[in-house]
Amino acid sequence: MVKVATLLLFTALSIQIFAQNDTIMEQKFAIVIHGGAGTIIKKNLTDEVEKKYQDKLTEALNTGYQILEKGGSSTDAVEAAIKIMEDSPLFNAGKGAVFTNAGTNEMDASIMEGETLNAGAVGGISTVKNPITAARLVMEKSQHVMLTGEGANAFAKKNGLEMADSSYFFNQKRYDQLQKIKKTEKVQLDHIEDDEGYLIDPEALKDSKFGTVGAVALDKEGNITAATSTGGMTNKKYGRVGDSPIIGAGTYANNETCGVSCTGHGEYFIRKVVAYDVSAMMEYKGMSLQEAANHIINEKMVKFGGSGGLIALDKNGNVAMPFNTKGMYRGYKKSTGETVVKIFKE
Ligand code: ASP
Repeated sequence: MVKVATLLLFTALSIQIFAQNDTIMEQKFAIVIHGGAGTIIKKNLTDEVEKKYQDKLTEALNTGYQILEKGGSSTDAVEAAIKIMEDSPLFNAGKGAVFTNAGTNEMDASIMEGETLNAGAVGGISTVKNPITAARLVMEKSQHVMLTGEGANAFAKKNGLEMADSSYFFNQKRYDQLQKIKKTEKVQLDHIEDDEGYLIDPEALKDSKFGTVGAVALDKEGNITAATSTGGMTNKKYGRVGDSPIIGAGTYANNETCGVSCTGHGEYFIRKVVAYDVSAMMEYKGMSLQEAANHIINEKMVKFGGSGGLIALDKNGNVAMPFNTKGMYRGYKKSTGETVVKIFKE
């Protein structure tokens, strides 16, 4: 009798362990990215330029996805995906960062892990090749959440990050963009692009593009990481910092709810604490990811006058990519095999 009971118990335990392993095997993973929102309409992009964006977004997605597929962390995946976009002049981050009023490049970035709520950010850095790596360094190697300006540059250098001088970030088109907008005394949030994606009419206030980049990933362990990187706004002055490096505004992650990365008019995203709001609506109101993300971007932000969009991913691998502008460079890839890369509104 005792023997039979022991055997039954052993069988039950084995089934449970098998079931658990099976669950682990089936843990979904996914990555979602954006390359900025704004007046991105088909007629402003030649087929050739459209393809360049699609290829770069696909490369970033695949790079992050392959890390997740091999069992890598969501933090490694978002950092790698963002670095691909930072190294491309197509986006307003890293190499493609826009110019400040003083003709310099001041970049912001942040990263947050949903398991521990650890976070790191840099504001107004100018000599680090990949700002997202500097943000991760702050998260992992400092006792702080955000470092800014010269101090942040020095911290990155001391820790062996790859540095770059102003010639690396110089881009004639972006510089011309600054000269045009300077005459208008406006801060560049708004522009129509020529067929290579650059500003041609700084007066066109209704037409805007925000070229920030972001990524959110869910790994096989069920951990979510969100990250954002930007050059900010053309012609910004006095050390202006937007929402991108602000935890809760431009970036947020919590394993219990979701991960979020925003792009848009930073001053509005800061005041509405947009990224955290998605998580809060899920936590306190029981909304789905899609409902919460749509509500903040297409209702609250529209009423508030804040243009832009966000990408978000929840613990079950659901994706949301709402925007209230004409387009948003965006895409996702899931372990279910689903892959999407889009630019325009449908
Ligand atoms: N949110 C960024 C900022 O305000 C701009 C962008 O998304 O392109 O700095």
